[in-house]
Amino acid sequence: MASFRKNQSLQEFQKFIGDVYAIPDDRLYSMADMLVQQQRFTMRALKGIRKQNSEKIKINLLVALSWLMAIANRLHIDVEKDVWKRFPMLCSYCGKKPCECKKIRPQKRKYVKSDGAQKPKTMAGFQKMFNEIYPTNNKTLPEYGVHLAEEMGEVSEAIHNFLGQHKIKQLEDIKLEISDYISCSFGVASSANIDVAKELEKMYSNNCHVCHKLPCVCSFNSVSLIKT
Ligand SMILES: [Zn+2]
Ligand SMILES: [Zn+2]
Repeated sequence: MASFRKNQSLQEFQKFIGDVYAIPDDRLYSMADMLVQQQRFTMRALKGIRKQNSEKIKINLLVALSWLMAIANRLHIDVEKDVWKRFPMLCSYCGKKPCECKKIRPQKRKYVKSDGAQKPKTMAGFQKMFNEIYPTNNKTLPEYGVHLAEEMGEVSEAIHNFLGQHKIKQLEDIKLEISDYISCSFGVASSANIDVAKELEKMYSNNCHVCHKLPCVCSFNSVSLIKT
C-alpha cells in the first residue's frame, strides 16, 4: 500500500504520485492530456473560490497539484529542488522575506542565493515558508485565484514551447513556472485555510484517492467524468 503522511516532504509526495500514477499516466496520457487534467482541476478550484465552497477549492486544488507532480515526473523534474532554488526562504523578485515587491517594485528578478540549511524538510514546512514570504493578508482569496490561473497558463506555455523546440532553456523555464505554480497554490491554500499536508494525508491514506488501487486503475473516461 502507498500513502502520503503529513510529516513527509514535497519530494516524497512527488514520489508517491509516481508510485501510484506513473503506470496509468504513461500508458493513457500524452503530455497534452495531462496538462488538460491539471488545468481542468485548477479551474474547478477557481470555481470553488467563486462559489465560496471551501470543499470544492480543497479537493480540486489538491488534485491539480497531483497532476502537476505527474507532469514533473514525466519530465524528470525534481520539484522540491527547483522550488527551493526559486524560493530560498525569500521572494525571488525582491529578495526579501516578507516580500516587499509592492514597496520596491523591482523591474527585474533579483538573484537569490539559497542556504541549504534552511530548506523546509516537510510539505507543511514549505507551506509555512510561503506564508512567511507572502503573508496572506496582502491579497484576497479571489486575487490569489487570479494569480494561480496566470501561473497555470505560464506552465502550459512553457511546456508547449519545450515540446515544440526541445531547447534546454525551455526546460529550465518549465522548472521556474512549476515552482511559481506551487508558490501560488500554497497561497490559495493558506488564504482558504487549507492545510495542504494534512489534507493530502486524508486524501491519500490508501493508494489512489478514487479507486484505492496501487497502481491506480481509474480509466481515462472515468477520470474525464469526475466532477468534484
Ligand atoms: Zn517580493
Ligand atoms: Zn485510481
